[in-house]
Amino acid sequence: MDTLTAWLTKVRSLLAPALLHCLICGKTSRPAAGLHGICAGCEEAIPWIRQPRCQKCGRHVGCPDCSRSGQAVPIVCNRSAVAYTSVMREMLGQYKYRGNEQLAPLLGSMLDRAYIRLKAERERGQQGTAEIQKAESAFTGPFFPGIQSARNRRWQADLLVPVPVSESRFVERGFNQAERLADVLSGRRGIPQLPLLVRTHHTGKQSFKHRAERIADMKHAFAGNPDGAVLLQFEVWLETLGKRTRPLQIIIVDDIYTTGSTIRACAETIRTLCNDYGKVAEIYSLTWARS
Ligand SMILES: [Zn+2]
Ligand SMILES: [Zn+2]
Repeated sequence: MDTLTAWLTKVRSLLAPALLHCLICGKTSRPAAGLHGICAGCEEAIPWIRQPRCQKCGRHVGCPDCSRSGQAVPIVCNRSAVAYTSVMREMLGQYKYRGNEQLAPLLGSMLDRAYIRLKAERERGQQGTAEIQKAESAFTGPFFPGIQSARNRRWQADLLVPVPVSESRFVERGFNQAERLADVLSGRRGIPQLPLLVRTHHTGKQSFKHRAERIADMKHAFAGNPDGAVLLQFEVWLETLGKRTRPLQIIIVDDIYTTGSTIRACAETIRTLCNDYGKVAEIYSLTWARS
């Protein structure tokens, strides 16, 4: 009997999930089922964006921004993993401002879910908005209706480009938060990443600015990376694609999408860079949170 009790206790302890020290709330608790490093309670509190209300910017609530300007947007769409609630703000703050770099794998795996959703959307071809269809018909042409669906059956991004941080921000934080997230996604999906962009000037803390100020500020904030080694990598990468005629599928990676001005400015720069090499690019953005 004693041996049976001992045996049962052992089996129970093997079956019961080990407790962990949660990266978010700091408590010792039952681990989450789907994410590493956090407790089940914190996992349940994550405000995933499963069905974006705005197909363009991936926002979870009604979105006046995308319909307001009426001007062409240089990205196909943005998708974000989570809504930027106060809990998520706290989490990003720990990662970004308090230099808790060990949160990168967690946030990166959350971003990966947004990638999986984007991939599924592209493959289903349910990107219904008129602008997107127009942008795509410009590449596939009205005479080749089959190309679009064949392409979408196995959609995959070709390249990840992280949003760069300024030199001073980099020194302050010790890492580029967007690049770390892109690293995780790159490792999980086998998609190469290249730091194609640099910041041209210090734009100041965006969080203290109004929408119009941010947009004006961002217009010329980015340029192609002048680093010869990076450009060489880019050229080698373009070579590996061979004579493929479909547009390059490029994803800009960042931690947060607020007004979209950063993403738009980055997309414009990438588009110009690709055009310089005679390539057409379809540009997306994946951001960890949508505010
Ligand atoms: Zn927790
Ligand atoms: Zn929108």
